[in-house]
Amino acid sequence: MSVHLYDSRRRGIFPIEATNTATLYSCGITPYDSAHLGHAFVYLVFDVLVRRLQDDGIATRLVRNVTDVDDDILRKARSLGVHYLDLAAEQMVIFDKAMKSLGLLDAAVEPRATSAISEILSLIDAAFVAGAAYAEGGAVYFDVSRFPDFGEVSGYDRDRMLELAAEHGGNVDDPNKRDPLDFVLWQPSLPDEPAWESRWGPGRPGWHIECSALALRELGETIDVHGGGRDLIFPHHECETAQSETATGEPFVRHWLHVGLVGLEGTKMSKSLGNLVFVEDLIARSECAAVRIALLEHHYRDDWSWTDEMLGEAVNRLASWRSVSGDDLSLLDEVRACIDNDLDTPGALRAIDGGVAQGRGARSAAALLGINL
Ligand SMILES: [Zn+2]
Repeated sequence: MSVHLYDSRRRGIFPIEATNTATLYSCGITPYDSAHLGHAFVYLVFDVLVRRLQDDGIATRLVRNVTDVDDDILRKARSLGVHYLDLAAEQMVIFDKAMKSLGLLDAAVEPRATSAISEILSLIDAAFVAGAAYAEGGAVYFDVSRFPDFGEVSGYDRDRMLELAAEHGGNVDDPNKRDPLDFVLWQPSLPDEPAWESRWGPGRPGWHIECSALALRELGETIDVHGGGRDLIFPHHECETAQSETATGEPFVRHWLHVGLVGLEGTKMSKSLGNLVFVEDLIARSECAAVRIALLEHHYRDDWSWTDEMLGEAVNRLASWRSVSGDDLSLLDEVRACIDNDLDTPGALRAIDGGVAQGRGARSAAALLGINL
C-alpha cells in the first residue's frame, strides 16, 4: 500500500492497509448555520486522500454524516421559531452547493442522525450488556471506568479531558453522573424537542453515539480512516471509540485523521466572533482551482490562518502552471510521492512549481489534486 498517513491514536505515520475497498468516515456538519472554511478544509483533505486511493487502484467508500439532531440545531431552530428539520434541510442545500463548487467528489452516502435511532438504541443496549452503561434521571450514561483505554485516542490526561469536556457542553457537574467524564448516550427531551420512544422514556440521542451508530451501520466494525477537525478528538472521537469498541469488541478505527484548525488573520474563526470565511465567497472571487491551491498550500495537520493574499498567490500560481502545455507523467509520480507521505500537499504544489519551471506540463499532476488546468 502506497499511502502513509499519521494516526492520532498511535501517534505515528503508518501505511493504510486497505486492500479491496478503503472505508472512510468524515464527521460532517450540524446544519444549523453556514459552514465555514475550516469545515471545507476538512472535506478537502478527505477528498485528496480519496482521489489518491482511487488513483492507486483502491476502491473507496466515504461516509459523511449529517448531525440533524443535537443541542446546537435545536437551540438555533428554537431561536428562529422554525422546525429543526426545516432548518437542517435549508442549511444542507447551501452547504452541498458550496462543497460542489469546491470540486469535491461525492460521498458514497451522507446519512442523517435521525435515520439511525433504532441502531442507536441497539448500541445503547449493547453497552448495558457489557456493563458499561447506567440509567439515571431519564438519561443513560456511558461508564468510562468500564473502558480502560479511555483517553488513548487523544492522549490527554484526566485534567485535560475534564477541561475539554466542560468546554464542549459535557455537563461535568451533572449530579446523575458517577464520574464527571461519563457521557450521555440518551437524554430526555425538553417539551419542545423531538423525542423518540425508548425503555428509559421518550428522549433523544447524545451526539457521540450518533456517529458510532452511523459508522457501524454504513462501514462495519472497523473503519480504515475516521476523522474530522482536530477539535473533535476529545470528547467526540474518544467517546465514539469507547462505546463502539465496547459494543463490538473490535478495534473501531485503523487511522484517526485529525485536521488542523483554520483561523482568520491570526484569530480563531468562530461564529461568535463573526469572523467566518466562506468557500463560496472565495470561489465567486476566483475559481475552484485557485481556492484548492490556496487551501492545499497548508499541511492538514497544521493550524493555520487565512489571509486574502493567499488567494491572489494561488491565482498567480495557477496562471503559471497553465502557461506550460503538455503533460509530464513523471511529475504526476512526484505528486503521488508527496501525497503518499502523510498527505504532503504543500510539497506536491512545490513539485509542480519545480516541474513547470523546467517546462514540464502539469495537467495530470494537478488533476490528482482535483485542480483542472
Ligand atoms: Zn462524528
